Amino acid sequence: MPKTHPKIDTKLIHAGEPQPRIQVSVSLPVFQTSTFLYASTPGADDVRYGRWNNTPNHIALHEKLAAIENAEDALVSASGMATISTTLLTLLSTGDHLLAQDKLYGGTHQFFTQDLPALGIEMDFISGVDPDSWEEQLRPSTKVIYVEAMTNPTLEVADLEAVVEFARAHNLISIIDNTFPSSFNFRPLDWGFDLSLHSATKYLNGHADIIAGVVMGQGELVEEIRQKLKILGGTLNPHACFLLYRGLKTLAVRMRHQNRSALQIAQFLEGHPHIARVNYPGLTNHPQHDRAGKLFDGFSGMLSFEVRGGIEAAEKFARKAQFPINAPSLGGCETLLTRPAQTSHVGVPPQKRRELGIPDNLIRLSVGIEDPQDLIDDFEQALG
Ligand code: PLP
Repeated sequence: MPKTHPKIDTKLIHAGEPQPRIQVSVSLPVFQTSTFLYASTPGADDVRYGRWNNTPNHIALHEKLAAIENAEDALVSASGMATISTTLLTLLSTGDHLLAQDKLYGGTHQFFTQDLPALGIEMDFISGVDPDSWEEQLRPSTKVIYVEAMTNPTLEVADLEAVVEFARAHNLISIIDNTFPSSFNFRPLDWGFDLSLHSATKYLNGHADIIAGVVMGQGELVEEIRQKLKILGGTLNPHACFLLYRGLKTLAVRMRHQNRSALQIAQFLEGHPHIARVNYPGLTNHPQHDRAGKLFDGFSGMLSFEVRGGIEAAEKFARKAQFPINAPSLGGCETLLTRPAQTSHVGVPPQKRRELGIPDNLIRLSVGIEDPQDLIDDFEQALG
């Protein structure tokens, strides 16, 4: 890539491309091989082996990912959870303590509250929107502070600048799950975070056809995680690397469309008499609208809303809507709809769910790249 300062659209296309192009191929081929000839010159790369995450597909993908979030390095893995677990197991050992935002993706919540304590790693939850309460949870053994850029499914935006400030003041490693906004809308490292993680299954790949994760950040930290991943083994296979690399090329066009469509849909739903509440940071009445506007270049394609009339009304809407596919996950080309009380948060007791702002009639929508007016017309008839 020329040494100018290209915009993210350009980096998504040109960063990481091997020079010269392999066998004059415009698209990077898949290196569907587990191992490579042993290099005769001694060095870190004498061994090229799939689990070492150093195949040509890994190398090109890491370079493209690092470029789009202005990171020193990036490392992909077999799933978002493989990235989260490998990262935390690299940074924390028995006796260490973790502070984590109280509203987390269910898998992360389970790993933090069950698996880490089983290894003697303690944790406490903090409210992402109440920085004054964090200090009292701090211990001499606290090593890491962990947040999500937008919470699932209520789209809360924590005080992310305060997280970075707090981490620096107390010598903690700050980690953010940037899955919901995606690298197109938010670059956490530019705001001072040490590590940015993604479920690349979602927007980064964008086509609902692979499971993958990525961590990006300071070179030394990513290298430590790379060494741990080599041993824990949650490597992304070359074909999935190829698909993620290909999916990334359209991230900007997809996200721009999804940002615009989700805002239009949120505004339509907000004004509809059968909708009691809409959670979308792009709406001016969202409690963290100003903060989201300052931090993010767009508000993403994720929103949630409550249908008046309880579970029956929500279920009826889900049945009558023609375009959205009733399925968990998010960030693909097709609009997906799910009722978190039934899927992502089914394991959370109903009272706790309500405290978290997740009533049974809440519907989460991952807006795809269909025409937004077609989706709005569909929602209109489904609510009619
Ligand atoms: N982080 C967030 C915010 C998620 O929504 C998910 C999955 O839904 C994950 C992490 C885990 O990702 P994966 O399913 O790729 O392991």
